[in-house]
Amino acid sequence: MKFCSTCGAPVEVRVPPGDDRPRHVCSGCGEVHYVNPRVVVGSVCAWEERLLLCRRAIEPRRGLWTLPAGFLEQGETTAEGARREAWEEARARIDVRDVLAVYDLPHISQVQVFFRAPLLAPDVEAGPESLEVGLFAWDAVPWDDLAFPTVRWALRHYHATRDQPRLTPDVRTAPRP
Ligand SMILES: [Zn+2]
Repeated sequence: MKFCSTCGAPVEVRVPPGDDRPRHVCSGCGEVHYVNPRVVVGSVCAWEERLLLCRRAIEPRRGLWTLPAGFLEQGETTAEGARREAWEEARARIDVRDVLAVYDLPHISQVQVFFRAPLLAPDVEAGPESLEVGLFAWDAVPWDDLAFPTVRWALRHYHATRDQPRLTPDVRTAPRP
């Protein structure tokens, strides 16, 4: 950030009085522009025993497989965001149920929340951010071509708890590289 989004004056990076870390502070109006971690919401969506995966049409990790997931929008609940992402990426209608996993990724300032979310119908097709989408049996999951470690973690926890009516979420912190 170079200029204040409130008044347009240049912004400088300094520790505001009473604070303990550098912030973007406006040299004109004095506003402190806080930057906080972002929330990613997504789902493991199943139809019977098969799991929905999407092959990414966008960077990063274009061409690799992922779960329907993305950044939470302003004014949206985590469940609403998960439903929206499933529709945008796979034209999938889902029943968002339990929290499956919460992953902290402090090195990229993200928190990822995944739900267990059965598909309401098996009809899926690629949305604009996907090259293709598919329903995979457990043994057919493309483990070597998954886009992110958290996708693997969420899929494994889903599989391990798939018969439990109430699951304990998988809560983990990604190691700093
Ligand atoms: Zn300002």
